[in-house]
Amino acid sequence: MELRILNGRDIAELLPMDACIDLMGRTMAAVSEGRAHFPPRAVTRAAPGGFMAWMPGALDDPACFGVKLLSLFPGNPAAGLSSHLGLVVLFEAEHGRPAALLDAAELTAIRTAAVSGLATRLLANPDAGDLAILGAGEQAASHLAAMRAARRVRRVRVWSRTEASARAFAAAQGAKQGLEIEVAPTARAAVDGADLVCTVTASREPVLAGDWIAAGAHLNVVGASRPDATEIDTAAVVRARYFVDCRASAELEAGDWLRALEAGVVRPDHIAAEIGEVANGTRPGRRSEAEITLFRSLGVAAEDLAAAQYVLEAARARGMGQTAEL
Ligand code: NDP
Repeated sequence: MELRILNGRDIAELLPMDACIDLMGRTMAAVSEGRAHFPPRAVTRAAPGGFMAWMPGALDDPACFGVKLLSLFPGNPAAGLSSHLGLVVLFEAEHGRPAALLDAAELTAIRTAAVSGLATRLLANPDAGDLAILGAGEQAASHLAAMRAARRVRRVRVWSRTEASARAFAAAQGAKQGLEIEVAPTARAAVDGADLVCTVTASREPVLAGDWIAAGAHLNVVGASRPDATEIDTAAVVRARYFVDCRASAELEAGDWLRALEAGVVRPDHIAAEIGEVANGTRPGRRSEAEITLFRSLGVAAEDLAAAQYVLEAARARGMGQTAEL
């Protein structure tokens, strides 16, 4: 039995952002149509200050199943490591044989940003291009690439809790992407007038207030993937047309949604649609130029499996990765 092992460099080469956005369009439609199967993710304490998450699932087409095993060590970036390390273990669905082991950090960075890229293609105004990024870590970098794949980005501002992180991000990503990135002194200054906003921090308390958001903006809210944390205040939830990756996940894990619901300022039908329902045309996306759209990303196993299967097929075709006999 052959097992293919794919590292982060292989994945970055085999999973270009544009192709991954298209792939996530098909994948999120499958999620909304019941052709992807996954229980809620489990998270457990792994070490002092460190957690472990377990995300199993299966896809009907391409038929495969597997699990993402992730460690969440928020202090890692200071040691030069990703805060999300781990493996995706992918199985084939004919006989249930393990087929591949993939680096989860790179796969997660690309697939998460690609789903935000999909939401941006579907929900942002066509001429949106003034981008604010709150947060300056791994997701901030992949979201910059995804926003450029989704819209013609004219201006980029970044804000982060630690100004040095924002400066390092602006220098490194500005050079990589060949554009100028402004460092904003506050989150409010970063989002002032922006029509594309990505929140990609690990903050537990809001870094973005609803009354700062410009009319017509589209937001991708990606960080704080736990029920007791939120990057945005309740006013932002109320002001926006609120889209999710998966209703069941939002009801369990989206802290901003749960706070707004508990406060009685939104009703369950405030969730306009899953992004897969917009992708497959069964629910409308943006309805006017002026409305604020918000995509709440929590991340589901279907995204990891679809990305892993895509990378595996591309690696086989190009003879990439290492193989081991089991
Ligand atoms: P990184 O560790 O690379 O970056 C974390 C970022 O969050 C840094 O910019 C850091 O700022 C900032 N930050 C950390 N703690 C706080 C705080 N208390 N207040 C304000 N800012 C803070 O993480 P990633 O980029 O990989 O992930 C970012 C977020 O996205 C995390 O919450 C993660 O769980 C989530 N995520 C969501 C996924 C999804 O599918 N929706 C998938 C993967 C990740 P600084 O450096 O300035 O201190």
